Amino acid sequence: MIATGIQTAAYLFASILFILSLGGLSSQASAKRGVIFGIVGMAIAILSTVLGAEVQGHAYIIIALALASVIGIIVARKVEMTSMPQLVAILHSFVGLAAVLVGFGSYLDPNTHSLPGSEHTIHLVEVFIGVFIGAITFTGSIIAWGKLEGRITSKALAYKGRHAVNIILVLISVYLGIRFGMAPGTDALTELIAMTAIASFIGVMLVMAIGGADMPVVVSMLNSYSGWAAAAAGFMLGNDLLIITGALVGSSGAILSIIMCEAMNRSFLSVIFGGFGNATTSSKAMEGEVTSANHAEVAQMLQDAKSVVIVPGYGMAVAKAQYPIYEMVQMLKAEGKDVRFGIHPVAGRLPGHMNVLLAEASVPYDIVLEMDEINPDLPQTDVVMVIGANDIVNPAALEDEGSPIYGMPVIEVWNAKKVIVMKRSMAAGYAGIENPLFYKENTDMLYGDAKESVNSLVSELRSL
Ligand code: NDP
Repeated sequence: MIATGIQTAAYLFASILFILSLGGLSSQASAKRGVIFGIVGMAIAILSTVLGAEVQGHAYIIIALALASVIGIIVARKVEMTSMPQLVAILHSFVGLAAVLVGFGSYLDPNTHSLPGSEHTIHLVEVFIGVFIGAITFTGSIIAWGKLEGRITSKALAYKGRHAVNIILVLISVYLGIRFGMAPGTDALTELIAMTAIASFIGVMLVMAIGGADMPVVVSMLNSYSGWAAAAAGFMLGNDLLIITGALVGSSGAILSIIMCEAMNRSFLSVIFGGFGNATTSSKAMEGEVTSANHAEVAQMLQDAKSVVIVPGYGMAVAKAQYPIYEMVQMLKAEGKDVRFGIHPVAGRLPGHMNVLLAEASVPYDIVLEMDEINPDLPQTDVVMVIGANDIVNPAALEDEGSPIYGMPVIEVWNAKKVIVMKRSMAAGYAGIENPLFYKENTDMLYGDAKESVNSLVSELRSL
């Protein structure tokens, strides 16, 4: 057991570590340090909470901790990099569920009902709001998991009068909240259960209404919700650390959502209220002819090029092609060519997905450029290699007003002298729309799995 003073000091120290952790995560070079700060902070947080004076039943807690740690280690070891977003989404749902359970537990706890008048009312407000946010986060995250996993259609489910229905549901929740706050003891359990059902339904409908192309924002938005749900749980439990941690996650998730909206040229509110990014087909018929090249021809183009830009996408993650890609980059650089990467902010299925994969393959950061940095250089680039990317290089985003991704900034690869698109087929990307890039005169398709194709290119380059 530790004294309350020591626990408070430990909480303060853990909070500082969490802030340092977030700071570390802001750049690739310091990200590892950031993660370590986070791990140490969390270990201190758990230990000082479990050893707190008011905690009982340590045997149960240790069993739960051991079981959860084993499950966590197995899942984290097994999960493929391509399934990371789904894992993140399902973890958010756990935070939401935890907030709901803490809310119900706290409401049913007889001790909280002996609190003096105003304190009791404040506690009830905390419970009601905490359960409301928690339930939305819980069901919304499950739907996001289903969409990312491909079990639920990525199309936006938008029906007429949806906003009115949501507003009515929120108003009913407010009414239930007033009744809940005024009822003595635990008399308003029915109101709490009814609101939980309504909030769960709102969570489902909010995320169902968001289409494929806007999923990146949804994932970071749910991240933010999970933070607020944790902060609400912190208020219910009177735990300062949980409040601070929840607020950190909630606000950083909200900032990330806004940054992603800006990257996709979407208004934050329109994404939250859904119906955007609906996967319809392009309104324009494709013009031009699709041409393809073989590995030997592409290797020759690379050999003749002075400048090469590689634009990776989700397919690079699927194929785990980052290692042979870096081998190819090293070969080309050894020949004196200027080789760089162009990264779109929503490439892949997770914010920073491509950066993580390239860092894993030890690609130096100074040749990894962001979309805004690489776009102006593309007209002077000899060859652009699009490796497993599709939506992020779709010219329809700029040219076709009827396209669901119209207005989203993209990497304008078609401005380069030659574009090679490496993918397995003519299949669409996550937004489910056709890509006019494949029909452009200066584009050649190189069909096949990205890893196998890059390996073949490496051997062709060796033989030149
Ligand atoms: P896309 O999903 O648009 O396209 C990926 C392409 O990779 C597919 O067209 C597929 O074509 C190809 N591919 C798949 N497997 C392989 C393989 N083994 N080898 C070679 N190619 C392969 O990905 P982008 O990265 O271009 O765009 C990301 C999309 O995901 C955007 O719509 C974004 O909004 C969305 N999104 C992003 C999130 C984020 O946070 N970054 C989160 C959720 C969604 P084929 O089948 O023919 O091989």
